[in-house]
Amino acid sequence: MNIIMLGAQGTGKGTVAGLISGEIGIPQISTGDIFRKNISEQTPLGIEADKYISKGNLVPDEITVPMVKDRLTWEDAKNGVILDGFPRTIEQAEKLDEILAEKGEKVDLVINLTTPKEEIIDRMLTRRVCTNQECKATYNIKLHPPVKEGICDKCGAPLKQRADDSDPEAIKRRLEIYEEKTSPLVQYYEKQGVLRTETVSLSINRMGKDVATDIVKEIRGK
Ligand code: ADP
Ligand code: ZN
Repeated sequence: MNIIMLGAQGTGKGTVAGLISGEIGIPQISTGDIFRKNISEQTPLGIEADKYISKGNLVPDEITVPMVKDRLTWEDAKNGVILDGFPRTIEQAEKLDEILAEKGEKVDLVINLTTPKEEIIDRMLTRRVCTNQECKATYNIKLHPPVKEGICDKCGAPLKQRADDSDPEAIKRRLEIYEEKTSPLVQYYEKQGVLRTETVSLSINRMGKDVATDIVKEIRGK
């Protein structure tokens, strides 16, 4: 089963993807995480990608698409994947359809998360990530803080704020790009009949974990 997470920054895509992945045993593949790992290791891919990421721009398709295509050939991806952060443009979505079609597969479900704008900015500013690249757990100092301030509950490594989350200009740019380039994917997948939209918001007391629980139940019920 191939699942795609869609939704603006700060809606909780990573959280929902991680929970579903843990329950149904298919890997969560986050392009942002792969880029950040490469940046921290200063690989050629990381150095190149950082030029775009630090400004809040998209990394070009010539880098991103082959990286995802390769990741989909790994053994752990043979029963499907949960893609978090890819595709982000219509071109990427078309490429992904081609890559999956070559394997006789398709996109089975697109989980589109929406959150009111006021909450989004706040969540991005209060997001913290584990500095251990093997762990990458995410926290929110308001909504789900770690037990010990600044320390990851899962592995004990220090937490930090992502560079692009602490720069208001980069945040603004990412949200603009989302509106312009990524939001058209909602219609793209609606046409394919695979779209499922979910509101995640404090105002209705529905958080990522509630969405994940419902979806896992449905997948298991099938
Ligand atoms: P966010 O959703 O908060 O922007 P991500 O971790 O998904 O965070 O991505 C971080 C950055 O990595 C993005 O701002 C972008 O520069 C780059 N990136 C991630 N996925 C893609 C993609 N599919 N295409 C192009 N750039 C990407
Ligand atoms: Zn950790």
